[in-house]
Amino acid sequence: MKIAFIGLGNMGGGMAANLVKAGHEVHAFDLAEDALARAAENGCATFSAVGEAVDGVDVVVSMLPNGAIVKNVYTADVIGKAPTSALLIDCSTIDVADAREVAGLAGESGYAMVDAPVSGGIAAANGGTLTFMVGGSEEAFSRANEALEPMAKAVIHAGAIGAGQVAKMCNNMLLAIHMIGTCEALKLADKNGLDMEKFYEISSKATGYNWSLNDYTPAPGIGATSPADNDYQGGFAAALMVKDLGIAMAAADQSGANVPLGAHAAELYRAFNEAGNGGKDFGAIFTTL
Ligand code: NAD
Repeated sequence: MKIAFIGLGNMGGGMAANLVKAGHEVHAFDLAEDALARAAENGCATFSAVGEAVDGVDVVVSMLPNGAIVKNVYTADVIGKAPTSALLIDCSTIDVADAREVAGLAGESGYAMVDAPVSGGIAAANGGTLTFMVGGSEEAFSRANEALEPMAKAVIHAGAIGAGQVAKMCNNMLLAIHMIGTCEALKLADKNGLDMEKFYEISSKATGYNWSLNDYTPAPGIGATSPADNDYQGGFAAALMVKDLGIAMAAADQSGANVPLGAHAAELYRAFNEAGNGGKDFGAIFTTL
C-alpha cells in the first residue's frame, strides 16, 4: 500500500519505520527537518508539504501533538488533496469532540476516517507493539486493521467515530488514579514500618494488584523494573499525562460525568508538571508524597 505518514516525532518516527519494514511505500511529512531526515534513513520517501505526501495514496496516517493541529492539517491539506478513496487514520490523542468534528468534515467530502489512538509509549512504537483503539464504521475498521497491523500488538474496534478517543481518555484517567493510589500505599507501608518490597510481594498477589504496582512499580529498587529505577527517565512523561487528563476532564464536564478521583488526579499531576517535572516519567509523582 501507499501510505502517507504525517508527524514523525517520538511516536510517529518508529511507527512509520515499521510500515516500511512491512513492505509499504511510506510518504512522510513533518515540519521538523530532523524528523524528516530520520524518516528518510528508515526508508520513507520524504515530502516538503502535506498535500504532496498525500497525493495518490491509499491510506493517510497522522501522529500529531494535539487536536488543533490535527484539525488544521486535515482541513487545510488532507481533505481535497488525498484521493477520496484514501482511508484517513488519526492516531494522535485528541479531544473526542475534535475527533468527531474532523471525521465529520472528512465524511462530508467523501472520505472514510477512523480515530485510532494508541496505548504503549515510544518503545512500543519502535517495537511495533502498540495497542490501537479504533473508532469508526465496521468497514473503515477492517480497512484500518490492515494498515495498523505492522505497528500493533492489538487493534481493537471500540465503536463509532470518537470511541477510540473515549477509550483512550478513560484508560489514562484510570491509569493516573491507580498510579497515585499505588504510590500512596507504598509510602503508607513504609511510614508504618513495613518494608516496601514486602508490601509489593503481598499486595501484588492480593486485591491491591494493578498494573502500576505489579508491572511499573514507582518506587526505586522495589518490585518490577520501571523508570523509577532509572531516576524516572524515559517511560511516559508526566506532561503527556497532564494532557490526557485535560482531555478526560473536558469530556467529563461536557457529558456531566462525575469523576471526583479523576479530577483530583488531574490536579495533582498539573501541580507536579508546573513544579518543573513534566519531562519525568509519571511514576515520579511518588517522590512528592
Ligand atoms: P512529538 O512531539 O515527539 O511528535 C509530534 C511530531 O509532529 C513532531 O515531529 C512535530 O514536528 C510534528 N508536527 C507538529 N505539527 C505538525 C504539522 N502541522 N505538520 C506536520 N508535522 C507536525 O510527540 P509524540 O510523543 O510523538 O506524540 C504524538 C501523539 O501521540 C500525541 O498526540 C501524544 O499524546 C500521543 N501519544 C504519545 C505517547 C508517548 O509516549 N510519547 C504515547 C501514547 C500517545
